[in-house]
Parts: sequence; structure tokens; C-alpha cells
Amino acid sequence: MLVDSHCHLDFPELREDLSGVLERMRENGVSHALTISTTLETFPAVREVARSNANVWCSAGVHPDERRDGREVELAELLGLADDPKVVAIGETGLDYFRVDHIRAARACGKPLVIHTRSAAEDTIRLMREEGAREAGGVMHCFTETWEVAEAAMALGFHISFSGIVTFKNAKDLKEVAKRVPLEKMLIETDSPYLAPVPHRGKPNQPAFVKHVAEEIAALRGIALAEVAAATTANFFRLFRHARPA
Ligand SMILES: [Zn+2]
Ligand SMILES: [Zn+2]
Repeated sequence: MLVDSHCHLDFPELREDLSGVLERMRENGVSHALTISTTLETFPAVREVARSNANVWCSAGVHPDERRDGREVELAELLGLADDPKVVAIGETGLDYFRVDHIRAARACGKPLVIHTRSAAEDTIRLMREEGAREAGGVMHCFTETWEVAEAAMALGFHISFSGIVTFKNAKDLKEVAKRVPLEKMLIETDSPYLAPVPHRGKPNQPAFVKHVAEEIAALRGIALAEVAAATTANFFRLFRHARPA
């Protein structure tokens, strides 16, 4: 049993054939998924996917790259959106001026943070420290940073989530990080419809492909796929404790 801890089921590539996407998850042993909010405008559609599928949960938040086009989010509004049994996380958020509200919302509602970071890792870690992100806990999603950043995030109680990037031939440094992160701090994800893993590179990604991420990590560490599956699934339900397996 595998869990895709980060996907975007409301994006057109996946939404257009959602029943097929969910069926291929089942066929590939991917039992559950967390679909991630990126704008306030699309949040109702994200929540609807979670509400109509017992094995899907969602987050509430605004993606750092999306805020320019979308509306701002304030703490009270974020807390209102998070007050829903299918919302189990806050995010995805990153280094922008809304991040503080996301961290505060996560602390206030007791739902973990999904953090997106690209090339601003030191500032992100510093802000997480300053704003007490440890209290909420969460995950550094689609991790592509160094071992030092992974260590700093884990010291704040955060999990490290690996995507299809870890299967890419040129991702040598990331493969080393994936060997070193303790299994009990690890999650796996697709970030679909983006970043399809080998052997599907260049095609639209889907949650079923999280299997290839798990296989790569098992091969890198020289352990059984079942061990990676068991650990990352247990970690998912321990971290996102409002998600109750259907
Ligand atoms: Zn992201
Ligand atoms: Zn994402």
C-alpha cells in the first residue's frame, strides 16, 4: 500500500479523467492521496475531489507562485477553510509574504504544513524557526535541496518528501540525500500532473506513478519496496493525523 502525499487532482490533466486516474491508483497499489490547494479560487474544486472520494484528502493554502494572479489569503480565512474534516494540511506555502499566515494557521488548527521551497532554503528554514513551525510540523515537499537543508528541516520536526525527480539520471546529489534520510522521516509524492518519474518522463504524471518513486528509493537503499511502502504510508497517517484511512 502506497500513499501519494502531494498531487493536484483538480488540474485539468488529471481532472479530465479523474475516475481513470483513481482506478490506476488502485491497480498500482496506491491506496490514498493528498490533493493540494494552490489558489483560493480553485480551493472549492480541490475540496470537492476530497469530499467525493473516501481515499482522498486535501489541504488549504495558496501556492507561493500563484499569489500574483490570485487573491490574498488572511489568517482567519485560512482557518475557516481548514475547519473541514477533509482538510488535513495547510499549504502548499513557501517563501512569500503569506507564509507567516500559513504557519500561524497550521499552529492554530493543529494541521501540518506543506512547504514548497526552491532556491531559498536558508531563508525558508530561518522563517520556519522564527515562526515556530515546529509546533505544527509538516513536510518539505518535492525535496530537491542539500542534506544540510534536510537535516535542518528534520531538526524542526519536518518530514522530507521525495518526488519523481529522485528517479532522474542527473539527480545524483538528491539520490544521496534519499539514501540518508531516515525512513521514519520520509514521505513520497508525485506532485502530479508535473514531474513524471522515469520511465514516464515527459508525459503527464499521475498518483499511480508514485510507485516508481518508492521503487527508486528501495533500490538506492538496497531494501525491499514493501519496506519503503510500509514506512512512508505509516509516516503519512502519523503526520496527517486528521486523515483516517477509509
Ligand atoms: Zn510545490
Ligand atoms: Zn504541488
